Amino acid sequence: MINAGIVTVSYITATVLFILALGGLSHPETARRGNWFGIIGMAIALLATVLGVVTQHYALLVGALLIGGSIGLVLARRVQMTQMPELVAVLHSLVGIAAVAVGFANFMDPDKHFVGIELTIHDIETYLGILIGALTFSGSVIAFGKLSGRISGSPLLLPARHWLNLLLLLGAIWFGREFVLQSAAGGGMTPLVIMTIISLLFGIHMVMAIGGADMPVVVSMLNSYSGWAASATGFMLSNDLLIVTGALVGSSGAILSYIMCRAMNRKFLAVIAGGFGTGGGAAASGGGADQGEVVPIDAQETAALLAGAKEVMIVPGYGMAVAQAQHTVFEITRVLREKGVNVRFGIHPVAGRMPGHMNVLLAEARVPYDIVFEMDEVNDDFPEVDVSVIIGANDIVNPSAQEEPDSPIAGMPVLEVWKGATSIVLKRSMATGYAGVQNPLFFKENTRMLFGDAKETLDEVLKTL
Ligand code: NDP
Repeated sequence: MINAGIVTVSYITATVLFILALGGLSHPETARRGNWFGIIGMAIALLATVLGVVTQHYALLVGALLIGGSIGLVLARRVQMTQMPELVAVLHSLVGIAAVAVGFANFMDPDKHFVGIELTIHDIETYLGILIGALTFSGSVIAFGKLSGRISGSPLLLPARHWLNLLLLLGAIWFGREFVLQSAAGGGMTPLVIMTIISLLFGIHMVMAIGGADMPVVVSMLNSYSGWAASATGFMLSNDLLIVTGALVGSSGAILSYIMCRAMNRKFLAVIAGGFGTGGGAAASGGGADQGEVVPIDAQETAALLAGAKEVMIVPGYGMAVAQAQHTVFEITRVLREKGVNVRFGIHPVAGRMPGHMNVLLAEARVPYDIVFEMDEVNDDFPEVDVSVIIGANDIVNPSAQEEPDSPIAGMPVLEVWKGATSIVLKRSMATGYAGVQNPLFFKENTRMLFGDAKETLDEVLKTL
């Protein structure tokens, strides 16, 4: 057992470490250190809470820690890199359901001794915690379904869906008010349950209405919500560290959502209202036929083109993660650089299935950071590029975002690879990307298609090189 003073000092130390962790995560070179700050901060926070705040039911606590910790360990060990976005969505849903559980437990607590205005404030905290928690939970479950392909990526556009949203919102406010009023008179369970169901429906409807291409914004938005849910839990439990940590996650998630919206050239409210994007990864439905023929290329010809180039731009996308081709990509980069070829990487902000997905893979394969560039840093350079290698990327290099105002991805900034001398696209078939839109890039005169699993074809290119 430790006293309250030590708990406070530990909480402040943990808060500082969490802020340092977020700072570290802002750059690949400092990300590892940032992760350690986070881990140490969380260990201090847990120890201080278990030894200084918890006073009873230790067996329950240790049992829950052991079960939860083991499940977390097994999941983290088993999960493939391509499943990380889904895992993150599941983890957000757990924060949401925890906030709901704490909210109900708090409300039903027989020892609670609030009266008058204190009770009202406490009830409002409970209400907000359950509202945000339920919304985060159901929204994240749907996001998990969409990211893992269990639910179609097409937006579900119910008739009068904006009115339905408004109705749900008004319902949640009305029953919240009823809950606070009835709670003062000793009741309140019924409106609280109804309000929870409304929030759950709201979360489902909100994420179901989001089209494939806008999922990145939703993932970061749910990240933010999970932070606010944790913060609300902190208020309910009067735990300062949880309030601050939740606020850190909530605000950094909100900033990430803003960055994602800018990257997609979308207005946040328009994304939430839903409707952009179509299906997810479906085979192109005849669209290809109108656009002409594609020109295939083999690995040997690809190697020859690369070896003869001066400027090479590599554009990785989700398919590189699926194929786990990053190590071969690194080897090819090394060989080409030894031959005097200037190799750079162009990273689209929403490439892959989670923010920073490509950077993580390239860092894992030890690709030097100084040749990895963000989209805006290289997009004007394509006219000077001899060969662009598009590895399992599709939506992020789709010219229809600029050329077709009716396209579901219209307005989204893309890497303008077609402005270079030759583009080589590595993919297995003519299937569409996550947004479900056919890609005119494949049919351009200066595009060559290298069909097959990216790892297998790149292994062959490397062998030839
Ligand atoms: P896309 O999903 O647009 O395209 C990926 C391509 O990779 C597919 O066309 C697929 O074609 C190909 N592919 C899959 N497996 C392999 C393999 N083993 N070998 C070779 N190719 C393969 O990915 P992008 O990265 O271009 O774009 C990301 C999309 O995901 C955007 O629409 C974005 O909005 C969305 N998104 C992004 C999130 C984020 O935070 N970054 C989160 C959620 C969604 P084929 O099947 O023919 O091989």
